[in-house]
Amino acid sequence: MDICVKCGAKLTQENTCETIFNEFMALEFTDPSYGQVHFLTVASYMVQHEGYSDEMYVWVQSALRSHLEEGYPTELIRKDMAIGPGSTKGIRRPLNAKPLPKIAWTMTIADVDSRMHDSDSYCKLIEQWGRSTLKEMGPLVTNEKL
Ligand SMILES: [Zn+2]
Repeated sequence: MDICVKCGAKLTQENTCETIFNEFMALEFTDPSYGQVHFLTVASYMVQHEGYSDEMYVWVQSALRSHLEEGYPTELIRKDMAIGPGSTKGIRRPLNAKPLPKIAWTMTIADVDSRMHDSDSYCKLIEQWGRSTLKEMGPLVTNEKL
């Protein structure tokens, strides 16, 4: 058993979080019944793997909140992203960015992977993963520049 150094997921020997993520992306791009949760999959994965720049952590926290709590549709999130942080600022975390605090996530991509068995269970698990990620991501979001 391996432990992911970034998100703490417990992994079997043949998997890393990245290989699971790539499998999920393949499913989502080929089957719309999986693809409907694409925003949540990418956001949860990036948030838990120190993937975002500081600006993007602030942005994605509010996008997750409006989507999960107010039902704001993902097509609009995609449009907002294109004119928002995606247009001017880097989305990805620069290599020299300050280290982020470690968070003991209650749910990781490995949990989704081990429990899902069809698109229905997949979407429910991804939503649950998104909600717990949103709830626990607070320490990663700094509002210094706002
Ligand atoms: Zn991981």
